[in-house]
Amino acid sequence: MPLPRIFFGNYDVKLERPLTLVNKGYTADMVIPETVNGQKPFITGGLLKGEYVAEGIHFHWGSPVSTGAEHTINRRRFDIEMHIVHRNRRYSDVTEALNHPDGIAVLGVMFKVKERPNRIFPGLKKLFGVLPNVVDYNSASELPGSITLGQLLGDLNTREYYTYKGSLTTPQCNEAVTWTVFSNPLPISYADASKLWQLLDSNGNFIGNNYREVQRRNNRPVFYRTSKNYIYG
Ligand SMILES: [Zn+2]
Repeated sequence: MPLPRIFFGNYDVKLERPLTLVNKGYTADMVIPETVNGQKPFITGGLLKGEYVAEGIHFHWGSPVSTGAEHTINRRRFDIEMHIVHRNRRYSDVTEALNHPDGIAVLGVMFKVKERPNRIFPGLKKLFGVLPNVVDYNSASELPGSITLGQLLGDLNTREYYTYKGSLTTPQCNEAVTWTVFSNPLPISYADASKLWQLLDSNGNFIGNNYREVQRRNNRPVFYRTSKNYIYG
């Protein structure tokens, strides 16, 4: 039985403004508001039981000389990884959800730096466009115009992904997260990637390499979904 694909609810509805990107000192983070319909974007499908409401988005990256995605795919680390954090609708907020093994679902999207990307994605362009305004710790900047959450996925092939139950990659590392990591990267220009590399922490140092070391699997199963009709082996 193949895993179902991920279903995206309200990912195609515009988000309420303001949309504010914040330099948190360890990442660039944006809280995801309700859509203009008064609902939140959500996901279900994959390994998920029930609906998971989008709460926030942040990034992991390396430096001009190192790749910084958090997950490796076939031992390969892409340049940047975007995380969209979702909370199980059963729980009232993220803090509460973190106390439950089915509390949190994170989508991981990889980016690969290209000299000349052949595609440009309007939503991501707006988000990366304000990164130069949040170079300093605790600074914030509002995205111009409006976007849907789905626009931050570009033309990602969401039918191919790895998924497993694991933990948060930040301290405490609660075993509360179902990870879904899309295996195909989106292209990003060197110019846009450098906007992340420029961000500073509270000491004025570059934030880069804000990913956690790869963890042992401890026999936890990792599932792979492919959009091919069948596979041998
Ligand atoms: Zn993350």
